Amino acid sequence: MLTRKEYSIAQKRAAKMIAKSGIKITEEEKNRINVSDFGLSALDLEGGQILTFFNTERISTKIIALFPRQTLPEHWHPSIGDNPGKEEVIRVIEGTLYFYCPGEASMRFGKLPVNREMFYTARHEIVMLPGDQIMIKPGIVHWFQAGEGGAVIFSFSTCAKDLNDCFTNPNIVRTTKVK
Ligand code: ZN
Repeated sequence: MLTRKEYSIAQKRAAKMIAKSGIKITEEEKNRINVSDFGLSALDLEGGQILTFFNTERISTKIIALFPRQTLPEHWHPSIGDNPGKEEVIRVIEGTLYFYCPGEASMRFGKLPVNREMFYTARHEIVMLPGDQIMIKPGIVHWFQAGEGGAVIFSFSTCAKDLNDCFTNPNIVRTTKVK
């Protein structure tokens, strides 16, 4: 749950970060940056500010602004029926991103959200800087966290059906309530 004011402040803050990263977006786009707290009501800790440029039946591109140390919760993109699941490429535009996927535990720089450690099972750390990108196959668990200066990243993917995403934390809901 976010108040209307919190939502608006986060949206403006994200728009500034995106502009500073050098990506031009329109006023209309600034106003539809989606602020998501994943139903956890701790936006600065776990959440994301997501602008979808387009999402067709086949391709999608989003830009995600993460505040300093803000964590996008652990999730995966499942296969559903004939759809093999979303294949996604994350590319860093600005800032440092700590990216986690299954593999040898190597966490050094990221910080697990306090009291939510059990919902972060992927502990293989990849430190990503501007220009770095990583491909995520469908079904692979992943999460990421911005460094101290925040981060702006692209998410390129096959068709995104966000409501189908699966999260490790069962308390997560994909739609953010605004009061
Ligand atoms: Zn993902």
